[in-house]
Amino acid sequence: MSDIPTDFETARAEAEALAERIERYRTTYYSEGVSLVSDAEYDVDFHRLEALERAFPELAGQDSPTQQVGAALVSAGFPSHEHAERMLSLDNVFTLDEFAEWATKAQAAAGRAVRWLSELKIDGLAISLAYRDGVLETATTRGDGRVGEDITENIEFIPAIPRRLAGDGFPTFFEVRGEVFLQPHDFQALNERQHRLQAEFVAEQREKGRAEDAIPTRFPEFANARNTAAGSLRQRRENKSAPQLELMRDRLGRLSLYLHGIGAWQNPPVSSQSEIYGLLAGWGLPVSPHSRVFDSVDEVTAFIADRGEHRHDVEHEIDGIVVKVDELELHAELGATSRAPRWAIAYKYPPEEVHTKLLDIRVGI
Ligand code: NAD
Repeated sequence: MSDIPTDFETARAEAEALAERIERYRTTYYSEGVSLVSDAEYDVDFHRLEALERAFPELAGQDSPTQQVGAALVSAGFPSHEHAERMLSLDNVFTLDEFAEWATKAQAAAGRAVRWLSELKIDGLAISLAYRDGVLETATTRGDGRVGEDITENIEFIPAIPRRLAGDGFPTFFEVRGEVFLQPHDFQALNERQHRLQAEFVAEQREKGRAEDAIPTRFPEFANARNTAAGSLRQRRENKSAPQLELMRDRLGRLSLYLHGIGAWQNPPVSSQSEIYGLLAGWGLPVSPHSRVFDSVDEVTAFIADRGEHRHDVEHEIDGIVVKVDELELHAELGATSRAPRWAIAYKYPPEEVHTKLLDIRVGI
């Protein structure tokens, strides 16, 4: 960014205003499942703040949003749960040049040729599953990366999350991380249900003689799949009537899951993340069929371009490609910042549409 202020005070004032705005967007997004701005607009602010902090490193205090994962919990009432190993976010790049620069750096830091595990970036919400002796112990949202919400009580409504592992050879205790999402047809079905329920409600109100313009929207349309999935997962069973529980069961029953990482896991018996996926699949855990491993950056670039052209040909929404160093040994060597691993990067596709009206992107949870 060329228009970075040259004097510190101007930069600080801009950084403070940005941090405050980003914090507000994040709290609403992570706690209420509501987007106050489009993701693209959020990313512009976030990257402007990163650029200011690069120019004036003293601005990048620990409490800056650029140093944090998610947002502090504003609990929906679930117990909190500390992850055995922190859950991180990902650093982003927006151009192929930035991606090549990142890959060159990662390769140089590794000191040897690396293999690139390339995956679709699922536009969903992160979840951590902990298994003990082959049985699901906890399902937890990412939260602030250290502590998330323990949503295990909802698991019986989510068939996509296996409660018991198949086969054998799994560690006594391990954590896996993945993305919960709604497939487009399920998102559409949920909205059709909202329309039907609202029409029934309106008819009932009319019958009771209520004036047309006094009838409220009790079953609003869901505006996007990601926030709807987040809202579904964070529903509480407590105090729900039988019909409300049925609706909740329907929403949770439609969620899908792909695992894309590990948390605490002592000495995995394989040397690469792609092999980990093989193990998980063998135990009946869902992994994406779209991941590929490449030896060269050129092949990754071609994959990014190809998947970008076929964004809508898969069973979930994607907002980019995640490229990871495949070798697990290098994950430990390259390490992580307070927010993201250095061995992975998200290449974000340009937005397909920019939302201009707040109402377009607000959803009920
Ligand atoms: P992120 O969504 O950019 O990327 C990190 C996450 O990607 C990981 O935590 C993981 O859960 C997920 N992911 C999906 N597929 C993956 C794969 N194959 N491998 C690994 N991880 C994968 O980062 P974030 O910190 O979760 O959120 C920041 C983003 O959220 C922003 O860039 C913006 O798009 C959106 N956001 C929007 C608003 C808003 O108001 N619109 C507010 C906050 C955040």
